[in-house]
Amino acid sequence: MGLNSEVVALLDEFKAIRHQIHQNPEIGLETVNTVKLVKSKLDEYSIPYKDIGVNSLVAEIKGNAGDTTVAFRVDMDALEMSEENDFAYKSQFEGRMHACGHDGHCTSLIALAAYLAKNRDFNGTVLLLFQSGEEGYEGALRVIEDGFFDKYKVDYLFGFHGWPGLASGKIAVHNGACMASEDRFEVHVTGKSGHASMPHVCNEPFAAVADIIKGLQTIVARKIPSHERGVLSITQVHGGSLRNGIPDNVMLQGNVRTCNEDVQDLIEESVAQVVKGAATIYGVEAELDYIRKHPVLVNSTPEVAIKAAQKVVGLENVVTDMESSMAAEDYAFFMKHTRGCYVWIGNGLDSAPLHNSKFDFNDDIMPIAASFFIAVIDELL
Ligand SMILES: [Zn+2]
Ligand SMILES: [Zn+2]
Repeated sequence: MGLNSEVVALLDEFKAIRHQIHQNPEIGLETVNTVKLVKSKLDEYSIPYKDIGVNSLVAEIKGNAGDTTVAFRVDMDALEMSEENDFAYKSQFEGRMHACGHDGHCTSLIALAAYLAKNRDFNGTVLLLFQSGEEGYEGALRVIEDGFFDKYKVDYLFGFHGWPGLASGKIAVHNGACMASEDRFEVHVTGKSGHASMPHVCNEPFAAVADIIKGLQTIVARKIPSHERGVLSITQVHGGSLRNGIPDNVMLQGNVRTCNEDVQDLIEESVAQVVKGAATIYGVEAELDYIRKHPVLVNSTPEVAIKAAQKVVGLENVVTDMESSMAAEDYAFFMKHTRGCYVWIGNGLDSAPLHNSKFDFNDDIMPIAASFFIAVIDELL
């Protein structure tokens, strides 16, 4: 099958759309103009759509009779950072940049829409979900809370990310966990303040904090089975304001990543145990706030993705042995409600990393992504 020739024929048009989005990055849930642009293309293709969540939208394309619905999801938001590229279509806004390639994800789905507008010979329904707020703004949750899975019968949902360090023309499919969970925690340790020369009349919080930090940093090394992966990083410690005073409070924050929900449970329990233990030893109050921000992204239908990917890029270009990433992705929330697979498509070996000020989405991914989605439709509908 290879790349879809109808998509390839329109590549210059899609590049122009991608570059327009790249020049006009929008942050978080505020993807107003990007949505306007997507709507204008869907209008041009006579594809109906509905708003969902916050500045997200779902387009619906019905094929022949058939009960199965396959959805494809892309994200649209940029990052609050300044672009250091100097090509013609660089961001026109200081402090805003498409450094995660969501401009290209979004345009790839527009390319699929252009194809499906003229090719509806499949049995069932295809949904195209253009999502805002992936970069920590809970865009996926807003879509789900707005009834995505009540309004539509979503049998499968597929998605992708352009991936630096993976050669252009390759597709990586993970069997199981693809991207990590992300938890955040904050600990407030409260003792009793006083003069630095008289600690015996105070209740110094720093000794407890020091033990908490040391204890937390042994969790991954000592509690998690060695074949599992986990990261626990302390990211902030704040306390005290005087040269000669002991403070009442010290606050510390941390960030946790895992690729397995059991490990996530184990880390959360262990963090609580360490904090409680240190508080008991030193006789201070220690309040823990532990938030599960993203679940592990687990692929449930890798076999469908592998077959579709092989049709597009050939067996030799489908990579099935890449380590999962310790970055989180809010597509994971959708996988709690339906089946599907999230794949990585090579952004090139010499690509700048994601979230780097010189990153740029590789335009060659667009026909690969759209052709991959078409092959998934072929497989399932
Ligand atoms: Zn990102
Ligand atoms: Zn991203």
